[in-house]
Amino acid sequence: MKKIAIYGKGGIGKSTIASALSASISLLGYRVMQIGCDPKADSTINLTHGLTVTPVMNYLARNGICSSLEAIVVEGFNGIACVETGGPTPGLGCAGRGIITTFNILDDLNAYEIYKPDFVLYDVLGDVVCGGFAMPIRHGYADEVIIVTSGEKMSLFAANNIKNAIDSFAERKYARLRGLILNRRNIDGEEHIVQEFAREIGTKVIGDIPRDSNIQLYEQQNKTVVEGDPNLDISQMIMKIAANIVNDAGVSNA
Ligand code: ADP
Ligand code: SF4
Ligand code: MG
Repeated sequence: MKKIAIYGKGGIGKSTIASALSASISLLGYRVMQIGCDPKADSTINLTHGLTVTPVMNYLARNGICSSLEAIVVEGFNGIACVETGGPTPGLGCAGRGIITTFNILDDLNAYEIYKPDFVLYDVLGDVVCGGFAMPIRHGYADEVIIVTSGEKMSLFAANNIKNAIDSFAERKYARLRGLILNRRNIDGEEHIVQEFAREIGTKVIGDIPRDSNIQLYEQQNKTVVEGDPNLDISQMIMKIAANIVNDAGVSNA
């Protein structure tokens, strides 16, 4: 099982890319679980055709305890197990409580033995306002981190904070930075800016995704573009990034 955390500034395209990568990895024949950690709880909406996944924190607030996986896991596109942590008031952060509680519940209910994911993708809000944003990096929850960024200043600022968080746990060999995915906003010199940033922080650009209106077209149908039309150039590009991630991970499928 390989656990990959996808980080990046709010609105940069983490959930879009995490879901499209989950869809692609599942199409390669692997079992996938995607865990959204964002008070918006919208990480997996394009994998479930809009079906609501009850966020773990909301379920707990209502019921006190959670004793069944069915209450918090929805099987989405191609059998992808979809989970949302939910969380506190947006902007306040929960210092990691949401994600830790979710990990503990998934463990207690043997979710990993039952769904047997080859890949777990965490889609994590990476703004500094979130006191718990480093949580998946700690305690061995994530093996690798991928940062989604554009060439815009604030996006690179968030990416740099995430890189610093990874470095601060490096000695204990927690997660390693796998690389950056450039999600283009079409600013001048964007590729150069992001390549240069990658070089400065000692990593690589492992994916380059153009802006493409097909992403939003299929989003309106609550689908990833990969599910919507796998033959589109944009879908093929994302599938190629996924294939590289899978190949490097060295995980064999069932
Ligand atoms: P985040 O999870 O980082 O907050 P989202 O994945 O929700 O961001 O993306 C925000 C919006 O940007 C979504 O409506 C999505 O469709 C759009 N978007 C993201 N990446 C692209 C892209 N490469 N081309 C077109 N639209 C995109
Ligand atoms: Fe939000 Fe951070 Fe808590 Fe996750 S750990 S629910 S991103 S505040
Ligand atoms: Mg999101």
